[in-house]
Amino acid sequence: MRIGIKGVGFDPVTLEEAAARGSAMMEDGGGHYVVTPNPEIVWLARKLPELKAAVNGADLVIPDGIGVIYAARILGTPLKERVPGIELAEALIAHAAAAGLSVFLLGAKPGVAERAGENLCAKYPGLRIAGCGDGYFKEDGPVLERLRASGARLILVCLGFPRQELWMAAHRDEVGPAVMLGVGGSMDVFAGDVKRAPEAWCRAGLEWLYRLLSQPSRIKRMIKLPVFLVSVVWERIVHGKADRV
Ligand code: UDP
Repeated sequence: MRIGIKGVGFDPVTLEEAAARGSAMMEDGGGHYVVTPNPEIVWLARKLPELKAAVNGADLVIPDGIGVIYAARILGTPLKERVPGIELAEALIAHAAAAGLSVFLLGAKPGVAERAGENLCAKYPGLRIAGCGDGYFKEDGPVLERLRASGARLILVCLGFPRQELWMAAHRDEVGPAVMLGVGGSMDVFAGDVKRAPEAWCRAGLEWLYRLLSQPSRIKRMIKLPVFLVSVVWERIVHGKADRV
């Protein structure tokens, strides 16, 4: 049963449980996609019904963002833990390397996915990269053809939100037997172009602050976080507990 926050249903899973479910999907022969919404995505989904449908239609919806965890607590229906999308990506990449399944890296600026692939291969011995592509393509057809032909069982889709969520929902059945995982800026991190917050900051739930300090231009995006939380508090006061969806 999913936990509803502003109309988006989150799977109450730990990182380990999410990795187990994602790994099983990689091998079950179907087409799947996994989304990693943070408060910004939830907030935008209120206004974009197609985004809400794309997120809720995913095979797994994991809470990426401490604001989502706080919101669930405020609503009286806590989620188990924050599951950072990048950590789920690493767990699934590790599984792919161990199981001999290949991975396609799609997204970010030209050249970034290739460098991310080199770094990931150095970190996960045995990892096979089935292909790489940047995230600024205009036509879907040739990209879908490459994905299918690559035989990849895990596809990292890093096209930025909401494009990646809409894209994965539209093409779930066209990429062959694979799991697509939408993880925004993770490709830049894997390539070494962007640094993730130190572990102590992540543990303290302050990854958002680190990102804000290292990229002050994100303030325009992050200003929505307090608005989101105030609106959740208001909802709790007016309606009581959150829905399970
Ligand atoms: N991006 C892309 N295609 C686009 C728009 C963005 O590949 O049409 C990439 C961009 O280069 C960057 C990532 O998407 O690598 C940023 O995604 P998002 O803003 O969701 O990431 P966040 O920083 O929130 O993790």
